[in-house]
Amino acid sequence: MTNILISGASIAGTSIAYWLRRHGFTPTVVERAPSIREGGYKVDIRGKALDVVERMGILDRVRARSTDMRVATHYDARGRKVAAMDADLFGGREGDDEEIMRGDLNEILYDLTRDEVEYLFDDSITSVSEDGLVTFERSPARRFDLVIGADGVHSNTRRIVFGDESRFIRDLGYRVSISTVPNTLGLDREEAVHAAPGRTANIYSTRHDTSAKALFMWSSTEPYDYRDVAQQKRQLAEAMAGVGWKVPELLAAVGEARDFYFDSISQIHMDRWSRGRVALLGDAAYCASPASGQGTSLALVGAYVLAGEIASHARIEDAFAAYEREMRPFVDKNQKLGPVNVKGMVIPSKFAIWFQLRMIKLMPHMPGRDKMIERVTGPIREAAVAITLKDYQAGHQRTQA
Ligand SMILES: Cc1cc2nc3c(=O)[nH]c(=O)nc-3n(C[C@H](O)[C@H](O)[C@H](O)COP(=O)(O)OP(=O)(O)OC[C@H]3O[C@@H](n4cnc5c(N)ncnc54)[C@H](O)[C@@H]3O)c2cc1C
Repeated sequence: MTNILISGASIAGTSIAYWLRRHGFTPTVVERAPSIREGGYKVDIRGKALDVVERMGILDRVRARSTDMRVATHYDARGRKVAAMDADLFGGREGDDEEIMRGDLNEILYDLTRDEVEYLFDDSITSVSEDGLVTFERSPARRFDLVIGADGVHSNTRRIVFGDESRFIRDLGYRVSISTVPNTLGLDREEAVHAAPGRTANIYSTRHDTSAKALFMWSSTEPYDYRDVAQQKRQLAEAMAGVGWKVPELLAAVGEARDFYFDSISQIHMDRWSRGRVALLGDAAYCASPASGQGTSLALVGAYVLAGEIASHARIEDAFAAYEREMRPFVDKNQKLGPVNVKGMVIPSKFAIWFQLRMIKLMPHMPGRDKMIERVTGPIREAAVAITLKDYQAGHQRTQA
């Protein structure tokens, strides 16, 4: 059991490649994109995921790439500043919690593995047989002892091995879109936010970025075709029609943008994360949704645990069972954050928006301030530490013996 194929070279895929290599295996990573995906959006690393990053020896590099956000400022439809709050509190971060651009984290993880791990870019798995023969779109067929699907919420590996994603995906009833736009507002480590009923527009610029990201979220269950970017842009424009503040000019900038990300805010729920010699990891197995703020941490911790359990067991079914046993309660807790958090991000009525802004404005002067903050950060903190990380070095020695 030495050759392991990983599908997906993002956070989960590069992380498990690192750990498998450390445990003495030979991982190969296949990635559909032509190279490591740059840019993206801000992601958080919290709780036990920070311990994992430290054990990988990259915590300093991650801290050096921190977004270093200062403030989140709320504007009304006419562009008047109505409230402001600390950016960490806005993002549900506290203490050592870190925020980094997804592309920066991906680059750090790729750099850590690129010399020791084989990467097959611009390719994708087309079939996996029970005895481990894998066929690809471009590369010749090869045999692997194990296959790990770390290819995201719309996982290709999951579709091939477990069936259509409609069986596993839970649409939380919102859409999200994000694009890189010029920083015309002159934002410096700041997010500017405008909320209208059922629709939120947010533009931010991080420490290392000369441009900005325009992020939109809105409540919708309208079906869409993930390949049809024109249709997705139309849905975004229709959803944001009539919204004031800077939204018309942001939409125009999105029209010119070189990147356009669009998806439903969804979760993946599965009864099991493995079948035969194939296991799923990260968003492919247990996406908690962007609204949870914990998808990156789940991917980092999941990679550590899955690699460790593979190294600790002689029989792969025991390793996969142990991976599920360790991760299930942690995943369940973190997935619960998604549907709750999203309600605070996209607010349904004018009154509720007015109330939220009022609270933000008054909070610094209120006697129960700490309790209010705890109500926001407490559940995230609890979920982020809801796993005890084993020390897998000993397990590795046992398997290798
Ligand atoms: C707008 C937005 C905001 C977010 N904000 C946060 C946040 O604040 N905090 C947080 O923790 N998380 C956040 N997330 C979630 C976070 O990005 C994911 O949970 C995390 O990246 C999961 O990593 P992953 O490696 O499992 O999947 P992904 O990052 O989705 O990576 C999947 C990889 O597989 C590749 N792939 C896809 N199909 C194939 C194929 N057929 N063959 C080979 N490769 C393939 C993809 O190109 C990609 O590289 C956010 C997500 C979004 C969309």
